[in-house]
Amino acid sequence: MNSKLVILFIILSNLSLPVVSVVDDCGAQQYDACINKKKALPLKIIAIVSILLTSMIGVSFPLLTRSIPALSPDRNLFVIVKAFAAGIILATGFMHVLPDSFDMLSSSCLKDNPWHKFPFTGFVAMLSAIITLMIDSMATSLYSKKHKAALVLPESGGDQEMAVVEAAAHSHFHGHHHGSKLEVEGSQLLRYRVIAMVLELGIIVHSVVIGLSLGASNNTCSIKGLVAALCFHQMFEGMGLGGCILQAEYKFLKKAAMAFFFSVTTPFGIALGLALASSYKENSPRALITVGLLNASSAGLLIYMALVDLLAADFMGQKLQGSVKLQIKSYVAVLLGAGGMSLMAKWA
Ligand SMILES: [Zn+2]
Repeated sequence: MNSKLVILFIILSNLSLPVVSVVDDCGAQQYDACINKKKALPLKIIAIVSILLTSMIGVSFPLLTRSIPALSPDRNLFVIVKAFAAGIILATGFMHVLPDSFDMLSSSCLKDNPWHKFPFTGFVAMLSAIITLMIDSMATSLYSKKHKAALVLPESGGDQEMAVVEAAAHSHFHGHHHGSKLEVEGSQLLRYRVIAMVLELGIIVHSVVIGLSLGASNNTCSIKGLVAALCFHQMFEGMGLGGCILQAEYKFLKKAAMAFFFSVTTPFGIALGLALASSYKENSPRALITVGLLNASSAGLLIYMALVDLLAADFMGQKLQGSVKLQIKSYVAVLLGAGGMSLMAKWA
């Protein structure tokens, strides 16, 4: 009788252990030897500077290669750099943003109802992918309708109209009729520019959030490793974004503005985390839900754009369809980009 009671007690105490640790987790403040606010501050300032520098290096790297003749838009290397960048963006969506959202929205700190009753992450990511497609297709058809009306056809024929519409509707169709060629390239360029800007918005949430959690943390034992990981993370992601800015062919000032904007996102997150350190709790339900839902919608957007606007557009386009050898090289680049970014998911 007595021994049974003891066993029951052991089982009960074991059952209650994880519950207790979960409650501690949601309370956020932990007390152990590593927590030291004063020692953490200089590390965070080092983090702000070094992440700013490495992001700038990463994002300008593909842009600087522009001065190399082998990287002019008509050359093969340009296509391969773009494939590498697309791989990075795809892995950012699948390997960083989507799993983060799953983690947050299935956190034990959230109420059982509704958060554990329905896969919100998948639902929101799916909706976001559909909405991105909707905006993509409608904006394209509105644009081509407007410009088709304005277009003066020198040698009129339905054929030529088709070329404009088709090229606007899908990338890399270069019209070979004299009148429409400029027009087609114009709409293609506009498309690239919109893609670059939307992508920048899509990766911002993740960049700010990883900075935020570094800024709010006072754990001196883990901060050093985290700073190094974030430097590589932002450098790699910068290369992905840089590749997309490259094809948008912006003027210098616009390029610099986009590169700068990307570079400050994580340092901004760290500063924000520092400022909010007393009130911001990573595991509070409000933070989990807001960031979790934002992550889910940017995951849908990033995955759609990487697959449809970057990868499918290039691989189904004229240039890559013309050469299997170039296709294989580009696939290697996609795998390298996606693989490298996936590796980063181990740390942040
Ligand atoms: Zn990440």
